[in-house]
Amino acid sequence: MKVLVINCGSSSLKFQLIDAETEQLLFKGLCERIGIDGSQISYTATGKDKVTKVTPMPEHKTAVSLVLEALTESGVVKSLDEIDAVGHRIVHGGENFTKSVVINEDVVKAIEEVSDLAPLHNPANVIGIRACQDLMPGTPMVAVFDTAFHQTMPEEAYLYGLAYDIYKKYKIRRYGFHGTSHSYVSKKVAEIEGKPYDSLKTIVCHLGNGASVSAVKNGKCVDTSMGLTPLEGLIMGTRSGSIDPSVIDTLEKKMNLNTAGVMNVLNKESGVYGLSENISSDFRDLEDAYIEGNKDAIRAVDCFCYQVLKYIGAYTAAMNGVDCIAFTAGVGENSGFVRKLIIDRLGFLGVKCNDEANKVRGEEKLVSTEDSKVRVYVVPTNEELAIARDTYELLK
Ligand code: AMP
Repeated sequence: MKVLVINCGSSSLKFQLIDAETEQLLFKGLCERIGIDGSQISYTATGKDKVTKVTPMPEHKTAVSLVLEALTESGVVKSLDEIDAVGHRIVHGGENFTKSVVINEDVVKAIEEVSDLAPLHNPANVIGIRACQDLMPGTPMVAVFDTAFHQTMPEEAYLYGLAYDIYKKYKIRRYGFHGTSHSYVSKKVAEIEGKPYDSLKTIVCHLGNGASVSAVKNGKCVDTSMGLTPLEGLIMGTRSGSIDPSVIDTLEKKMNLNTAGVMNVLNKESGVYGLSENISSDFRDLEDAYIEGNKDAIRAVDCFCYQVLKYIGAYTAAMNGVDCIAFTAGVGENSGFVRKLIIDRLGFLGVKCNDEANKVRGEEKLVSTEDSKVRVYVVPTNEELAIARDTYELLK
């Protein structure tokens, strides 16, 4: 079964074609600046050179039709009939979705219903579904939610300390994100360990531009650091992570901003970018500056690592122990430097870093020593493959 995986953002569309039976990647690419001047599509058919075309994309439907055109033009498929299914990444499923589902009108309505919880993402996701329905009528589609994996959290983990009535009326609670990645990585850890998924306590650190930590106990997520939106939790590339809510009111007054202005500060001008006095949101730049002794970079990276440490401590308590810790996503997979800064603080768990193994980049590897009490792994995430797997499972 050939599955087209679509990840539709407000002005971008990422896509991959995966053979779900062999799990082989056939084609991948990105449409950028949809609805903005200078839009372009770039794609690579496996084994061929990357192609980039600058072409107008006034809306997502044009982007999807360009993707389909590229698939046939590059010879990856002879006709669109060869695409057996589409798997859509959907950011917010609210409480409506605890797992991936085959898309029908009720599903689209339910995704639209929770759009106020993810106003930048869910409408774009629905536009992606509609565009595919128009251009590939009859092709079955599956929705895979970033929030679904976290729906197993107990009430004590997902409720905020707000009036219960507010939760009941507005569904304001912790949802968590990156669920597809946390699920994929925690399952992979069980596979590497050769133990049943439901027998392990694993902490997954998804450290990328967006970053989150989750606690997976006996195959179920029991807590995660992101909340109602992806702004909560760790300090991220440009997002502040958790702050005292009163900061918003204070900044409105001090910086003479409205709420949207403050939210922009918290989402785009904070995190390691803001903490480093705008050196960069990219850990490659921060790592270089850190090594050179740049105080701004040291401050930002140390704050980030300290937050990760605190979540690992908290989730060890929440699960009454931990067997494995996994690092994934851009920073987690590639930066032995940041991993070591974190792992070296985990002495309280009897964790020891294997410095030689920890040099690894983007590969599955045990990076703790043989006598480490908790095993620490690098596990590359693959959200697109996880979406293709779910799509295949539901439609085969
Ligand atoms: P993601 O959001 O998972 O795609 O991660 C993107 C981030 O990963 C980038 O912004 C960088 O901060 C980080 N990253 C990627 N490669 C490296 C690397 N080799 N060393 C350190 N950080 C990296």
